Amino acid sequence: MLNVPSQSFPAPSSQQRVASGGRSKVPLKQGRSLMDWIRLTKSGKDLTGLKGRLIEVTEEELKKHNKKDDCWICIRGFVYNVSPYMEYHPGGEDELMRAAGSDGTDLFDQVHRWVNYESMLKECLVGRMAIKPAVSKDYHEEKKVLNGLSHEVEEDFSVRVVENVGKIEIVLKKKETTSWKRLGHPLENHNSLIPRKDTGLYYRKCQLISKEGVTHDTKLFCLMLPPSAHLQVPTGQHVYLKLTITGTEIVKPYTPVSDFLLSEFKEPVLLNNKYIYFLIKVYPDGLFTPELDHLQIGDSVSVSNPEGNFKTSQFQELEDLFLLAAGTGFTPMAKILNYALTNIPSLRKVKLMFFNKTEDDIIWRSQLEKLAFKDKRFDVEFVLSAPTSEWNGKRGHISPALLSEFLKRSLDKSKVLICICGPTPFTEQGIRLLHELNFSKDEIHSFTA
Ligand code: FAD
Ligand code: NAD
Repeated sequence: MLNVPSQSFPAPSSQQRVASGGRSKVPLKQGRSLMDWIRLTKSGKDLTGLKGRLIEVTEEELKKHNKKDDCWICIRGFVYNVSPYMEYHPGGEDELMRAAGSDGTDLFDQVHRWVNYESMLKECLVGRMAIKPAVSKDYHEEKKVLNGLSHEVEEDFSVRVVENVGKIEIVLKKKETTSWKRLGHPLENHNSLIPRKDTGLYYRKCQLISKEGVTHDTKLFCLMLPPSAHLQVPTGQHVYLKLTITGTEIVKPYTPVSDFLLSEFKEPVLLNNKYIYFLIKVYPDGLFTPELDHLQIGDSVSVSNPEGNFKTSQFQELEDLFLLAAGTGFTPMAKILNYALTNIPSLRKVKLMFFNKTEDDIIWRSQLEKLAFKDKRFDVEFVLSAPTSEWNGKRGHISPALLSEFLKRSLDKSKVLICICGPTPFTEQGIRLLHELNFSKDEIHSFTA
């Protein structure tokens, strides 16, 4: 992926080594991390070989630039000279070369639609295609869409989504209470539907409202949506947060958590769909999270629309739900727990096995224990990989012994779903063990990038 930092990184057994779908990341040479790339783009070096000139590129011209040291790629009608970027690409040079001298839009979308290539590659921009080879998608920041109306309306309008019937109700308020003779003109694209996969990522600026420590390194961030924005992140899905770090837009995925387990928090929990909560671990030497952590209350962060392949239809007629989470891999489980316990009448048992290094790393321990006390269908077990000698609970990493004891069906043939999320080696090992324990593909959902 374009914006995962590297310095002879990821190490062969590292969590960052393999992305979903088996896309391997290659070890990068020293001095070829994302931060190094950002530095190079700021150095004033001519990265296109065109001395800052932008040109119109014909298809014939594009085709000629198909070698490693002279490689142009078109993405959404814009042509980039990616040769200087080759050594910095965590997916490797060969992966980039698959699109050499051609339109790489589809390839790019398959692999990392969310990466903000416009910002990452802006110094590599050669120009536009003379004839646009691909349908351009709407990747713009939020824009005003009400200008087709004949009279002014208040900025603050309400949106109500009734998901189960697929209806959206939008209530606009007139600025002046006069009667309108006509409504206005339909805008371009009126009455057309765009499949979700083609809509592109759309960011809205949200305001940081509060930030509260949950563990020694994990915080609960509350963001407020802009007025009238509607963003409901479905259970099991994530969004992308975008920040500009030393002049380059950096994007990372995060999974919002529901307010379900928040009631114990010191800060008042703000509801009514205007707020979105994230549990985020701050890595002191990470690229994105220290920057996020340095934001002041009132600062803004761009938040994308949701993505992910988890479907709540997987819960239909479900009897046993097993959740295997490691570290912040707990985040999708928070909403899943809420959804399953409130919406699935067939459910007999929900069990969470939560893997952490130490007791201090456990997110929302007391809330989870209280929930287990309150709801007899729910059980939680904590497993520590680096506990102190006082720890009386389970120890170690994910293993056949731990899983076979934990994954007991409530009835012989009960319908089961196992969700797993955490560092990549944890998830990969877990899936392998689950198959060895004869759980089928349909009974396992793994959360990956
Ligand atoms: P990075 O810069 O990516 O660094 C992460 C770690 O790798 C650090 O310890 C760093 O020291 C190490 N590292 C970096 N570069 C090198 C190097 N060259 N050599 C050796 N080690 C290195 N996280 C959450 O906290 N909450 C969530 O809700 C959440 N949801 C996610 C959802 C999805 C779908 C995915 C894929 C990930 C999610 N993550 C979540 C993880 C998140 O996206 C980021 O990966 C995480 O926040 C780290 O980002 P960073 O830029 O701060 O750290
Ligand atoms: P961590 O380093 O604190 O580790 C937590 C536990 O994971 C450890 O105690 C151990 O039991 C297990 N673990 C770690 N490395 C392992 C290995 N090599 N083999 C087997 N087990 C291992 O975890 P963290 O820093 O909180 O990282 C959480 C990870 O979850 C990140 O990689 C993040 O990207 C990922 N995540 C993914 C999603 C998603 O895909 N939807 C959502 C949230 C978090």
